[in-house]
Amino acid sequence: MRVLVTGGAGFIGSHLCERLLADGHQVACLDNFYTGQRDNIAHLRAHEHFHIIEHDVATPLEASAADALDHKLGFVPEWVFNLACPASPIHYQRDPVKTIETSVFGVMNMLALCRRHGARLLQASTSEVYGDPLVHPQTETYWGHVNPIGPRACYDEGKRLAETLCFDHQRSRGADIRVVRIFNTYGPRMAMNDGRVVSNFVLQALRGEPLTLYGDGQQTRSFCYVAELVDGLVRMMAQHEHIGPINLGNPAEFTIRQLAERVLALTGSDSELRHLPLPVDDPVRRQPDIERARTVLDWQPRVDLDDGLIATIAYFRARLASSTAP
Ligand code: NAD
Ligand code: UDP
Repeated sequence: MRVLVTGGAGFIGSHLCERLLADGHQVACLDNFYTGQRDNIAHLRAHEHFHIIEHDVATPLEASAADALDHKLGFVPEWVFNLACPASPIHYQRDPVKTIETSVFGVMNMLALCRRHGARLLQASTSEVYGDPLVHPQTETYWGHVNPIGPRACYDEGKRLAETLCFDHQRSRGADIRVVRIFNTYGPRMAMNDGRVVSNFVLQALRGEPLTLYGDGQQTRSFCYVAELVDGLVRMMAQHEHIGPINLGNPAEFTIRQLAERVLALTGSDSELRHLPLPVDDPVRRQPDIERARTVLDWQPRVDLDDGLIATIAYFRARLASSTAP
């Protein structure tokens, strides 16, 4: 297949590009490097079936680099994975209006592109559409509990509207769409300045700095290793039937304090825990119900937290060693 991956230089996107190339597909990676890193895709550049398009997904493709796709590269996509969007709270809150534009104009542009070429769109949605959930674990039928005017709303509501656009295009225009709600995912190639909890804790532990625990650390998350998440994305895209949104995540639920303890044990670090205020609207509990993914996609995560953390720690250890090398 000819596959366009927006956000392909990011953490998840770069693993997805790699997996798609390994499966024999042609891949175009569209990214404006807002949070993505050139290093993430440096090893793919020489691949004859890999193309990079530097472009802002919020700008219609026709208006600028576009034609990069249609003409310059002669690349007419059959599958479009729309991942372009900052995902870490500190990055998506940096310029909230831009985050909304990226989510909303980005998916509109990708829906238009898919319509033009008869391509299938997979939209990367998020567990944040459930907000601070009142239903636990979260099933796809739950409508969510989002503060529409809080600091997380630019991301949550942007992603919710992107879902709405996908389903409206499907109902009214026959768009071929797949929507996945991704739960906290971690692993190698998270940016050093990503700011999300796994990369923060691992880097702090390796540097011998205090681990920044927000609130009392009793809030929970369920962490999925990136390779397994990517496998779920590919299975969903390959699914022939149109189905509703699907949760992808590892249902094993941990408090953030437990995560800190696992990171300290696995790094052998004697860093202390430093308590900092809980961010506004930080969800209290989060755990995916993945029955739909199990049944429809025959997908379920098997990498446990310790094994995933060991691989992530090895990655950041190597990054730190290379950044301090003479
Ligand atoms: P990331 O920040 O590492 O990657 C996002 C990528 O999108 C980056 O390469 C960035 O440069 C690019 N991008 C941002 N704005 C853009 C724009 N306007 N035009 C073009 N490119 C743009 O984040 P990630 O963790 O890899 O997340 C990827 C996708 O998965 C996002 O859509 C995110 O919302 C979704 N998601 C991720 C998680 C997670 O736990 N990692 C959870 C839920 C949803
Ligand atoms: N968190 C923390 N310390 C950090 C970063 C995050 O205690 O250095 C907490 C944060 O308050 C949240 C959880 O870890 O409760 C997950 O945060 P993250 O930013 O990784 O993702 P979120 O699920 O909130 O989008």
